[in-house]
Amino acid sequence: MTSLANNYKRRNISFKYGKGSFLYSTRGKKYIDFIQGIAVNSLGHTNPYLSKALKKQASKVWHISNAFLIPEGEKLAKRLSKYTFAEKIIFQNSGAEATEAAIKVARKYFFSMGKKEKNRIICIKNSFHGRTLAAISASGSKKMTNGFGPNASGFDHFVFGDHKKLKKLINKRTAAIMVEPIMGEGGIKVVPEWCLKELRKICNKKKILLIFDEVQCGIGRTGKFFAFEHANVKPDIVPIAKGIGGGFPMGAVLMTNKIAKCMTPGTHGSTFGGNPLAMSVGNAVLDQLFKKNFLKNVTKLSKYFLNELNKIKYEYPKIIKDIRGKGFLIGIQLHFDQSKFIKSLEKNYLLTIRAAENVIRVLPPLNVKKNEIDLALKIIKKVCKEYK
Ligand SMILES: *Cc1c(COP(=O)(O)O)cnc(C)c1O
Repeated sequence: MTSLANNYKRRNISFKYGKGSFLYSTRGKKYIDFIQGIAVNSLGHTNPYLSKALKKQASKVWHISNAFLIPEGEKLAKRLSKYTFAEKIIFQNSGAEATEAAIKVARKYFFSMGKKEKNRIICIKNSFHGRTLAAISASGSKKMTNGFGPNASGFDHFVFGDHKKLKKLINKRTAAIMVEPIMGEGGIKVVPEWCLKELRKICNKKKILLIFDEVQCGIGRTGKFFAFEHANVKPDIVPIAKGIGGGFPMGAVLMTNKIAKCMTPGTHGSTFGGNPLAMSVGNAVLDQLFKKNFLKNVTKLSKYFLNELNKIKYEYPKIIKDIRGKGFLIGIQLHFDQSKFIKSLEKNYLLTIRAAENVIRVLPPLNVKKNEIDLALKIIKKVCKEYK
């Protein structure tokens, strides 16, 4: 009998160790891991370069406090601001914390200008921004908020694609629009590039802020550092997490100078956020991601993967309804509930994970090799062939 609470439906597998795209179970089986901790291990399991960075920092200093300078964090913030739209960064420990910080910053920005009434955030219904009280309210999902008392106020929702409703929702109390450029948990739903552009235009016109939640789709996952870069638009605030730590828990909120000014000493903080261990690993992740051709390779190999998946779709149109996503944020949408299919993939030693709308999420590490993709394709084909 487990002493762990029952809030997860756990699969009955545990692992002895992992290496790159593979996990080795305690029962001696080798799995291709195309979950990677849900788009977290951007460089695969036990990446030697990351391990080295972590060990090196572990022998120097683990944790101090934001009461002191943390050079590793200074360095990571500088690099993030150099390579992205952002000019200022606050480090957090998780995605939900990062999105909450984004919400706080947006509200505080208008508050600091004397516009106290501007505190509402518009989000997509049934999106995903994390599991804390404000984040579940932001997500606008009954399933997530049910039973947890009054909703955190200040969130308005429109259904994905309902632009009329979105425009109607904007009023003088609106502070920001927050969307995931690609909805991860929501079923790998890509917000079209023209839509992201249109959102920027609307925000400019209405003088409100644009927040892109890049917790899942960011940090190279789509072949660009941020998913919104495909649309060539600039947001005002961006929460990140998952991929930036490569498996070490961390998050951050990125913003422009103009907005960051409202975050004066004492307005926000985190005991662990920006911890030297996390910062050192974050820097090591960037070392790899910013290597020449790294992201180009993500684009190239993911195009191949998506292309081959589409071929399987044409071969099995009664099973596969759609292949969705960008880069290595991939969704295989079935015509029916996907649980049995995921189980069959697992029985054939390929690990994948569900998302909404009957979608199977396929999330290889960004440095996956072509032969590993081929191995996964073979398994997917086999499962399609044998599926009853
Ligand atoms: C995972 C995720 C979060 C929440 O991250 P946690 O680290 O689980 O709190 C927020 N937003 C998006 C888009 C995510 O995918």
